[in-house]
Amino acid sequence: MASATYTARAIVLRKTKLGESDLIVTLLAEDGSQLRAVAKGARKPSSSFAARLELYSVVDVLCSKGRSLDLVKEARIAASHERLRRDLEHAACAAPMAELLDRVTQAGLESPRLFALTAAALDRLDGAETAQAPAFCAAHLLKALAFSGLRPSLEACVGCGADVADSPPGGSTFLSFREGGVVCPACRPSMEVVAVPAGTVGWCRVLMGSTFAEIEALDVEPSASFSVLRFCQQWVREHVGSKLKSLDFLFTSGLF
Ligand SMILES: [Zn+2]
Repeated sequence: MASATYTARAIVLRKTKLGESDLIVTLLAEDGSQLRAVAKGARKPSSSFAARLELYSVVDVLCSKGRSLDLVKEARIAASHERLRRDLEHAACAAPMAELLDRVTQAGLESPRLFALTAAALDRLDGAETAQAPAFCAAHLLKALAFSGLRPSLEACVGCGADVADSPPGGSTFLSFREGGVVCPACRPSMEVVAVPAGTVGWCRVLMGSTFAEIEALDVEPSASFSVLRFCQQWVREHVGSKLKSLDFLFTSGLF
C-alpha cells in the first residue's frame, strides 16, 4: 500500500545528521507547527536535496508519512535567503531566530502567525545592511515570543495592571522576568525585580510595536538592538527554560 503523502510550505530551522548520509530537517510549517522529516541521502554530494534544504530558506516539500518520522520525497526552493548563510553577520542574526522557533514550536501545535512573521523577518534580514541585522533579529524574537504566548508585559504593571510610565532617559525601569514584565513603584516592594535601563525597555516597546518596514526606516543602532537581544535572552531563560546558544555566540563573537 502506498503511504500517504502531503505537501507543505515550510522554513528550514535545523539540519541534524542521521547515519552515514541522511539528514533530519526541522521545519516551521505554514500553520506554525513544527515538522521533522528525514531527507534520505541528503548529505551525499550527488543529492538534489543538498542545495534545496538549506538553513533559513523557504521550501515547498512533498513528504510521505512515516511510522516515526516522515520522509521528504521532493523539495523546491521558494525563497533561498542565500545571504543568511554566506555573510557571517547575517548568519549570526538568523541563527537565534531559528533556534527560538525550534524550541517553542511543536508538532501539531498550530500558530499561524509565526510562519508569516518569520518569512517576513528572514526576507528583511536577507536584504538588510549589516548594522541593521541585529534589529531584525531582536524584533523577530520579541514578536515570536509574543505569538507563542510568551509576550512580555512592557506597558502594564504585572502586579496591578497600572500603566508604567516611561522612565526618564538614563533612568531604570523595574522588571520581574519571572512574573512577566514591568513593575510599577507601588508593587516593587512586594516583588523580586531587576532594574533594567529605561532605554532597553523603550527599544523593546518600539521593536514590538513596529513593522519590519518601520524598523528598517528607524536605522536602529546595534547597541540598542543588542540591549533588546540581552533582554530576550533573559526572557527565554526564564520562560523557555535555557538560553539560546546562538545568542550567546552573537554576544561573544565581536561581529558588531
Ligand atoms: Zn503595580
